[in-house]
Amino acid sequence: MKLTIVVPCYNEEEMLPKTTEVLLRVAADVDRECGTATDVLYIDDGSSDRTWELVLQHAEEHPNVHGLKLSSNRGHQQALWAGLEWAAEHSDAAISIDADLQDDANQVLEMTRRFLAGDDIVYGVRRQRKSDTWFKRVTAQGFYRISRRLGGNVLYNHADYRLMSRRALRALLDFPERNLFLRGMVYSLGFPHSIVYYDRGERLAGESKYPFRKMVLFALDGITSFSVKPLRFIVWLGMSFMVISLIAIVYGLVSYLSGHVVPGWSSLLVSLWFIGGAILLAVGIIGEYVGKIYAEVKRRPRYFIEAEV
Ligand code: UDP
Ligand code: MG
Repeated sequence: MKLTIVVPCYNEEEMLPKTTEVLLRVAADVDRECGTATDVLYIDDGSSDRTWELVLQHAEEHPNVHGLKLSSNRGHQQALWAGLEWAAEHSDAAISIDADLQDDANQVLEMTRRFLAGDDIVYGVRRQRKSDTWFKRVTAQGFYRISRRLGGNVLYNHADYRLMSRRALRALLDFPERNLFLRGMVYSLGFPHSIVYYDRGERLAGESKYPFRKMVLFALDGITSFSVKPLRFIVWLGMSFMVISLIAIVYGLVSYLSGHVVPGWSSLLVSLWFIGGAILLAVGIIGEYVGKIYAEVKRRPRYFIEAEV
């Protein structure tokens, strides 16, 4: 039985030696206990540092380390996709994990056990986020709450640490969309699945490759890839405004007839801003979806592979 640990890497030169050491130890444990043959696959997401050189070096030293080098930075989700495509071809199951090892790599063993017991998908879920900064914790949890309320398909505190059987991988790879929000897509697959819980550690080296800007874009992607509720919200907003303006008309008429016409330019000014803002917001939300449609209809390749070991 072949297993692949899929690891997207973007400028992870500081992390890679440690990552390889830990993952190879985990792979050896799993192989001993479960009788598997485990590979580690690095996907270099167009790094500008020495990541690829290190991957080459590790691949030379260890026959079960492999690498794909993407021709440019396509983002975490696309890099992961590239790795999952490779894994669907080469192995019976794939486990995706971040290069920074914030997610407890020791759970790979438990995930494999569950896979052997019949689960197609095993989700890794963080029990707590004490090691994250206050800011990251609040924004991440806010995101899960909002998505949940909008009907988004996400598992609370599950990132991209999970095992997928080949059958589940094939199903996932059938999704044609270019806007990837993998944790939501996988969650919608079904199949027998279970959850393993773990404590999330700190990033051992290097910096987060998800600065605030990327995090906001990722959250927006997550929500707009799954839910049309923001569009429906606009309709509600519009209707509420119509009701409000009806009241305003009646009020204006009554005050006109009773002779109380006030030069109320200040209230006018306020409502102008308010309505202007609401319209901009509405147009913005629609724009998000139109942008998505644009990206989808272009059907561009997700990535290009420059080198492979
Ligand atoms: N990553 C990637 N491409 C990118 C950004 C990040 O492949 O454009 C990888 C990164 O190397 C890491 C994983 O995605 O393995 C998660 O990134 P990071 O740990 O920086 O995110 P955080 O844990 O801060 O959300
Ligand atoms: Mg991280």
